[in-house]
Amino acid sequence: MNKISIENKFATELPGDPDKKNVSRQVQEACYSEVTPTPTANAQLIHSSPEMRDEMNLDELKPKDFLAYFSGQKLIPGSIPFSMCYGGHQFGNWAGQLGDGRAINLCEIKGKTQTWATQLKGAGHTPYSRTADGLAVLRSSIREYLCSEAMFHLGVPTTRALSLSLTGDKVMRDILYDGNPDYEKGAVVSRVAPSFIRFGSFEIFASRGDKKTLTELVNYTIKHHFSHLGEPSKKTYLAFFKEIVETTRKMVVDWQRVGFVHGVMNTDNMSIHGVTIDYGPYGWLEDYDESWTPNTTDAQNRRYRFGNQPSVALWNLTQLANALYPLIEEVEPLQEILDYYKSQYQLNYLLMMLGKIGIFTFDKGDEKLIDDLIKNLSESEMDFTLFFRNLNRFDSKNKENHLKLIEKDSYLSKIELDRQINSWSAWLDSYSKRLKKETISNEKKIEKMNLVNPKYVLRNWMSQLAIDKADKEDYSLINELFDLLKKPYTEQPEMEEKWFTKRPDWAKEKVGCSMLSCSS
Ligand code: AMP
Ligand code: MG
Repeated sequence: MNKISIENKFATELPGDPDKKNVSRQVQEACYSEVTPTPTANAQLIHSSPEMRDEMNLDELKPKDFLAYFSGQKLIPGSIPFSMCYGGHQFGNWAGQLGDGRAINLCEIKGKTQTWATQLKGAGHTPYSRTADGLAVLRSSIREYLCSEAMFHLGVPTTRALSLSLTGDKVMRDILYDGNPDYEKGAVVSRVAPSFIRFGSFEIFASRGDKKTLTELVNYTIKHHFSHLGEPSKKTYLAFFKEIVETTRKMVVDWQRVGFVHGVMNTDNMSIHGVTIDYGPYGWLEDYDESWTPNTTDAQNRRYRFGNQPSVALWNLTQLANALYPLIEEVEPLQEILDYYKSQYQLNYLLMMLGKIGIFTFDKGDEKLIDDLIKNLSESEMDFTLFFRNLNRFDSKNKENHLKLIEKDSYLSKIELDRQINSWSAWLDSYSKRLKKETISNEKKIEKMNLVNPKYVLRNWMSQLAIDKADKEDYSLINELFDLLKKPYTEQPEMEEKWFTKRPDWAKEKVGCSMLSCSS
C-alpha cells in the first residue's frame, strides 16, 4: 500500500479564508486559511512512533515519502493544508486572534480505530504567525514528541506524536529572553488528534459577534466529533458543553495524579476533546510544591502552578461557556454545569488520591488523611513520583524502614528532615490504622497502586539529557526514553538506577531542567 487514506473535512466543510497569500493578517469570518509548509534545507527523520505508524496504516509508505510528507517537503496527494484561526485568553486576558502561527494541518488520515487530524508543528510561516517565524527548535520538539507519547502511555488523554524530524535549517532563539539570541537546529513534529479545535476556536467568533461562523463551527464539531449527542439544538449544545467540562475535569485529575504541570493553560491551549495539547514549558513535579510552575514567563503570578490547574481549567471552561452562550442564550444551565465541575472535581480528586495510597473504599476521616499527607509532602520537599511509587513497599509492622525510605526520597538534608520525622511517623500510624479497614488483599492493593503511581515519568532533566545528546547528533537517549516511557507502570529493573531517581543536583538550576521559557 502506497496510498494514504485521507479526508479534508475541515478544509472543505467550513468557511475558509478567500485570501491565499501567506502574509500575517487578521482573518475574518473564516475557520482557516490555506497555506503550505515552507520547504526545508535537508530534512532528516530522527524518530517515529511505531504505534502511531501502525494505527495510521503508514507502515508501508516508502521511508522517503514518509519523511517528505511528515516534515513538510511534499504534500500528501489530495490534501488541502491549512492553518486554523482561533483566539484565546492568555494569562487571564483576552488576546484577540492567535491561530496556528507555526502549525499547519495536512489533512485527516483514516486510521485503524479512528480518523486523525494531522498537523506539522514548526513547518514555517502562516497567516497567523504575526511577527514570528513559524518555526520550532529541536529542543522543544523533542520535549513535545517524547512527552505526548509518554502521557498517552500513562493513560492521560493527549494529542499523539507521529514523527520528529530535523529540518536542516537554523532557527534564531533567545532562550532566556535576556538579549542573547543564538542559532539552534530547526525541527518539525508531526502530531495527531481527533481534531485540533480549541476553546479559543469558538471564542474568536463570539468575541467578534460572528454568530454565523460560530454556529457553523459548533455544528461541524458536533457532526464529526460529538455525533452521539444528536442533531444541533440548544439541548445538544448544552450536552456538548457538558461533555467538554467532564473530559477536561478528568484530564486535570490525571495531571494531578501523575504530577504534570502544563505551564501555559491559556484557552488557546485547551482542546475541546479534553486532551492535553501544546507541550511548551511543561514540567513534572519533583519536590512536592503546589506553587511550582516550570514556566519562567509565569514566575511572578504563578497562574499556572501545579495546585492551580483545577481552578484554571474551570476558569477556561467559563470562557468557553461565554463563547457558546450566543447559541444557548440562557445562563443558568451553563452555570449549573460549571458548578457541577467544582463538586465533582473535589470528589474525583479525593478518590484519585486515595487510590494512590491504596485505599479503595471511603471513610469519614479520609479527607484529613490526604490533607495531612499533602502537608507532609510539601513540608519535607518529597519527590512526588518516588514517594507514591515506593508507598507500595510500606509494611505496617516495619514503620522504621519506611521512615528511612522517606528520608531518601526527600530533597531536604537529613538534619532538615529530622524535624519532619515526627509528623511522618504520626501520618504512617494513621495510615496503618486506615489500611486495616480495607478488605482488599495486600497483593491486590499493590497491583492497583502500581497502576496509578507511575514508576517512570519524563522529568525535565531527563528530556534535557536527551536534548543535549541530540544536539550532537546522538539520538540514543531519545530512543531509550521513548521505550522506557512506553511502560511507565512497569518495574523495568534494568532502568531503575538510572531513571527511578531524584533530580540530580546538577539539574536544579540548569536551563531546561527547572526553568523553561516559551521560546520554542
Ligand atoms: P503557545 O502558547 O506556544 O501555544 O503559542 C501561542 C500563540 O503563539 C499561538 O497562536 C502560536 O501559534 C503562536 N506562536 C508561538 N510560537 C510561534 C512561532 N515561532 N512562530 C509563529 N507563531 C508562534
Ligand atoms: Mg498553543
